[in-house]
Amino acid sequence: MKCPIGDKYSEGQLVPYGNFEISPSSSVLNYGQGLFEGMKVYRREDGRIMIFRPEENARRMQMGAERLLMQAPTTEQFIHAVKKTALANERWVPPYGTGTLYLRPLLIGSGAVLGIGPAPECTFLIFASPIGNSYKSGINAFNLSIETKLHRASPGGTGGIKSITNYAPVFESVKRAKAAGFDDVLFLDEETGKHIEEASSCNVFILKGNVISTPPIFGTILPGITRKSILEIARDCGYEVEERRVPVEDVLAADEVFCTGTAVIVTSVASITYQEQRVEYKTGEDTVCHRLRTTLTGIQTGLVEDKKGWTVQLN
Ligand code: PMP
Repeated sequence: MKCPIGDKYSEGQLVPYGNFEISPSSSVLNYGQGLFEGMKVYRREDGRIMIFRPEENARRMQMGAERLLMQAPTTEQFIHAVKKTALANERWVPPYGTGTLYLRPLLIGSGAVLGIGPAPECTFLIFASPIGNSYKSGINAFNLSIETKLHRASPGGTGGIKSITNYAPVFESVKRAKAAGFDDVLFLDEETGKHIEEASSCNVFILKGNVISTPPIFGTILPGITRKSILEIARDCGYEVEERRVPVEDVLAADEVFCTGTAVIVTSVASITYQEQRVEYKTGEDTVCHRLRTTLTGIQTGLVEDKKGWTVQLN
């Protein structure tokens, strides 16, 4: 779907996956004026398919579009396009429990502009790809290292939106961590270098006793939809939940650490290494992380009653 700024998106079209043309002077190619979302289409045990909280993805894209001076589709248009794409690709949604169909909505400044500035026209598109489960057992855990050299986001920057420009700068940290045997890095805040923010593509929680803590969303952390859902599920399960700045020493002293995101769902952290110091955490089926994960995936796949109306049935 294409749309000049200040105008409305009209109905888009379904086309087979393939390359598309774009002006060499488009603002997405030259200035990184682009946003993306990541969503999954789940197959339930009864064979029907569903999506999870699509209005949250629509809203996050609209928030990002405001920051990057782009025209976002309305929530209705976004959800309509997601549903249409999912249904057209239904045969690619893996059988229950074996994976999901990943949807990647993109909003890009596709219009030509030579001087540095926003594009006069935006394009909204969605592509789809089946993906397997990250972990077969669902209880494998991450080994993280705390990144002390580079930062993911600066105050006043774009860390709080899903801007395409947030991701390539993270490649180096992740590559270094993977070369040293870790799965991902945990970034620290730029202001003090003493508080955790998030990993390269997921939010982070710590558990100490009965208290679950996660850093607050102040513009440098992506407001994850899984994070928001887990905060609510954890409260419902009776845990004390707080959004507060989390210093590294609290992370090192935690009973459990876990990551949340569309890709990782809710995944335990087995160890964190900070300046040569390695701390190990509880993982496995007898963890709070596992309990929260089971509840969330239960809602997503229809095994747990969806009292909150988070799932949208597609067929
Ligand atoms: N942080 C970052 C930087 C991400 O890219 C993602 C993935 N979208 C998340 C957190 C988790 O967000 P969500 O739960 O909406 O997938």
